[in-house]
Amino acid sequence: MKPSDPVTCLHGVGQRRGVLLALLGVRTVEDLLYHLPSRYEDRGQLVSIGSLCPGVPAAVRGAVRNFSVRRTKNRGVTLASFDVCERSSSVKVLLFGGPRSFGGVSDGKDIFLYGTPSLSKDNSLELHSPEYAAADPGSVPAWLRLWPVYPTTGGLPRNWLANLIYRCVQSPELVIEDPLPKVISDKYSFPSLAEAFKGIHAPDSREDAERASARLAYQDFYENQLRIACARRMRAKAKARSLEEGASMQERFTAGLPFTLTDSQKEAIAEIASDMAGETAMHRLLIGDVGSGKTAVASAAAARCAGAGHQAAVLVPTTILADQFFSFCCTYLSPIGVKVGKISGGMARAERDELLWGLRDGEIGVLVGTHAMLCEGIVFKSLGLLVIDEQQRFGVLQREKVIRENSGAHLLMTTATPIPRTMRMALYGDIDCTEMKSRPGRKIITRAVSCNHMGELYNFLKEKITRGGERCYWVCPAIGGSETADDASSVTSRVRDVKKNMSGVRVEQMTGSMSASEKSAVMKRFAEGPGILVSTTVIEVGIDVRGADIMVIESASSFGLSQLHQMRGRVGRGERTGICILLDSARGILGSRRLSVLMECRDGFKIAEEDLKLRGAGEYLGTRQHGGENFRVADIARDERWFWAAKNDAGAFLG
Ligand code: ADP
Ligand code: MG
Repeated sequence: MKPSDPVTCLHGVGQRRGVLLALLGVRTVEDLLYHLPSRYEDRGQLVSIGSLCPGVPAAVRGAVRNFSVRRTKNRGVTLASFDVCERSSSVKVLLFGGPRSFGGVSDGKDIFLYGTPSLSKDNSLELHSPEYAAADPGSVPAWLRLWPVYPTTGGLPRNWLANLIYRCVQSPELVIEDPLPKVISDKYSFPSLAEAFKGIHAPDSREDAERASARLAYQDFYENQLRIACARRMRAKAKARSLEEGASMQERFTAGLPFTLTDSQKEAIAEIASDMAGETAMHRLLIGDVGSGKTAVASAAAARCAGAGHQAAVLVPTTILADQFFSFCCTYLSPIGVKVGKISGGMARAERDELLWGLRDGEIGVLVGTHAMLCEGIVFKSLGLLVIDEQQRFGVLQREKVIRENSGAHLLMTTATPIPRTMRMALYGDIDCTEMKSRPGRKIITRAVSCNHMGELYNFLKEKITRGGERCYWVCPAIGGSETADDASSVTSRVRDVKKNMSGVRVEQMTGSMSASEKSAVMKRFAEGPGILVSTTVIEVGIDVRGADIMVIESASSFGLSQLHQMRGRVGRGERTGICILLDSARGILGSRRLSVLMECRDGFKIAEEDLKLRGAGEYLGTRQHGGENFRVADIARDERWFWAAKNDAGAFLG
């Protein structure tokens, strides 16, 4: 039996169970081996029945007395009840079964049990549906040991799955090759891969399981780092056009900006310029907190590219952001003689044809657009730079496709999601990073407010909007993490409530299910004058409305810290100090250490680190924010030490 064999080759796995296993992502024997326990139960140590405690799971052994079986109201289901005794102590046991179950259990027999005792009405101890097996001489049931508990799905009993995996790793027919070089296994005294699977699924002790898990995590990291190092080498050979000549155009662009660049912006622009001057393709990720001014940096690169006589393409995730980026470019690039074009989904034929012509002809120097840019028929005369804004919003595959097809161009990606250093090395280890640490000076005050004070909140906002002429975002919680019908309904009901409590205030609403043009229209209206915009988290990324300086976030504790931080970065962009109000139940506010991190700290990187610590890498990555590497075992937060070890070793291996 090989790891690549289908899981249905295992004894006891028929077609039906094969389908259910596939639901868990298990199709091959290897998948099964990588189906890891979420925890272990200590079943190895037998305790005496006299020392059982309610609520504390334990394994015991004793003799059966008073065994009786009766039918229940459900046809075919029977209920067995009996006492299990050891010296003067006993525990009552209840088992459900079919007509022919309870094999091996009868008065006088010795049995093993594992379960969690509860207190019955008369204050005696009971075990409901525990694991049980007759204590036959010379054989101990497999589950009477440190026992792994697996995630499973309806129709696949946990114990069946556990037994299947147990038999699989113990099978003498299973042949597993070890991909780790021997020097490495020796260096850390790692078990072989086959032993590691045994250690994970059938451990003798917790230390055993931990050693196995470390070895599997290490292997994940090692393979990841080898891949990254190879990709980096390939890329080092990729050629691109040198854009050295665009320097003066870039200077004219920055001179025309209505603000002075921050130090971070200046450094980023210089770093990017020096990459683009070379003939090796740039491959750089610009990481900057929300509002740090990445648009200006990316546009400076585009100006340089156009100045050198080539074209730049800027890919952005949404139509709203495309509008915004385009209008920025029109304001600051057009006056210095760079023609800017925009492409979006629903363009009229004639307009589109003209645009395509301008691209082919080289007349258009900078093209801004959504993924409409990726469709057939778009040909650049000479693409020199590709910018992917908010790159985490694009899937890995989408991103790789664009990059592959536009080889020969320098690549600049931006992200507002600060990524802790280790995670960045694992996900983007193959690209260069520029971090922008300072932001244009602005202030945001963050306060937590309990739902018990809604009346006061409404009054405060009404005052600010009607008298102060402010614009306010009101973000409703995402139910189930995505833009579903429920989210829309939470927006609708909040709109109703706002209208009732803040008469005379203009109210706009926006949800993820609206079309791109509807959303753009709402944003445009919202930007025009005082009012309130109730929305789902669609406003999260990139939106820039000057003069919108207040934000209310409902059910704040249900969002991730980094997400909250990104959202609040929308306010306080103009002269006024921004106000971010985290609204939650009184309990949500008290109970959430996370929210207090947000009130005290404004550094996106620190917040991301904190988020990672509090939630663990699984969930951090689980948000698919990074659409990145899926490690089978490794968890960047938990196994950080092995990450660095693997990174060093992979580097040394490639020399
Ligand atoms: P992000 O990094 O989130 O993409 P933007 O590029 O959208 O941020 O910039 C946010 C706002 O800050 C924009 O209105 C932009 O014009 C403004 N801005 C950018 N750089 C500066 C600066 N150096 N000084 C003042 N305002 C700036
Ligand atoms: Mg941006």
